[in-house]
Amino acid sequence: MKNIYKLPNNDLELGDYPYIIDPEYTTIIWHVVHICNLHCSYCTGYGSKHESLLTIIGEQELLDAFIKVKEYTKRKLMLCCTGGEPSIVKNYGNFCAKLSDNGFILQPKTNLIGNESDNFINKVNPANVALIEAALHPQPEENENLWKLFFTRAKKAHNLGFNIVIKYIATPYRINTLNARIRKIEDAVQGQIPILISPYLAGTTWPKMYSNQQIDKIMNICNIRKTIFIHRWKCTNSFKGMKCDSGRGVIMLQVTGEFLRCWNARNGRSYGTLQKGILNLDPEPLACPYSRCACTQQAMCWGLSPWNHIKDAKKEQCYYNRFVGNINKCL
Ligand code: SF4
Ligand code: SF4
Repeated sequence: MKNIYKLPNNDLELGDYPYIIDPEYTTIIWHVVHICNLHCSYCTGYGSKHESLLTIIGEQELLDAFIKVKEYTKRKLMLCCTGGEPSIVKNYGNFCAKLSDNGFILQPKTNLIGNESDNFINKVNPANVALIEAALHPQPEENENLWKLFFTRAKKAHNLGFNIVIKYIATPYRINTLNARIRKIEDAVQGQIPILISPYLAGTTWPKMYSNQQIDKIMNICNIRKTIFIHRWKCTNSFKGMKCDSGRGVIMLQVTGEFLRCWNARNGRSYGTLQKGILNLDPEPLACPYSRCACTQQAMCWGLSPWNHIKDAKKEQCYYNRFVGNINKCL
């Protein structure tokens, strides 16, 4: 498969990997909206009823604001569009096409069920999309029509040249039947699209919601981003004091337009406001003040050297490190 990167430890990385380890890029985790068309029991991503800025200020003004932020920061920007579900916001597909035409790299996270999914796939230039992370949630898994819709869109995106991965979250209740569930997905994608099996890493219940046997089972099946999973498993409660790249290489953009360091820092200091075109990034990675990192975006734990908390790990083994990482070493 194209755009699969094999790391020295045999772990596999995906299409957004070159941007993630590139020191010139900052990833903006943009919460496009917090509303969603699905209601997964494990969700931490929806709740606030705040309208999307795309609806409030409109396409052109929002595009101008993003361009101003790019000029202000003098950085290359990758926009991770997440939610809630971004593809339920009117004009989302069209707006993403404009962002990609204006030099932004996109990294959308989606359930592929929203009305704007087709517009996104039809209008956006695949060359400017690092990775579509298409998460297969319980409703499409249990509803034949939604299942067909999900895979029709995923295959269309793949055929048009997008990097896409099917993300499947191995929640505890899915584990006993995980092999059969994965086989069904494999039958649907027929080897054309990678399948990312991930444990449920967010919230306060990770990792104690899993038994040791369940962790072992996921670890045996997981063959993409396994390193993140293992390190996250061992380090979830050890982030305090670690120098984290959130605030410089990764920044969160709230649905309101406020830039914050990360999800944990929702009550922390503001890094700027999108509508004003201002984003003041930290000059270097700062220590994490929180004992536990429950930020849902995996990119957020790709800090200067989070892996130092793992006994005997060496800095050179930090493949996800934006400062010492070098893609040429890893291919
Ligand atoms: S699709 Fe995603 S955002 Fe929507 S309810 Fe499920 S987990 Fe939450
Ligand atoms: S909570 Fe996580 S993302 Fe936030 S500063 Fe700490 S390590 Fe970084």
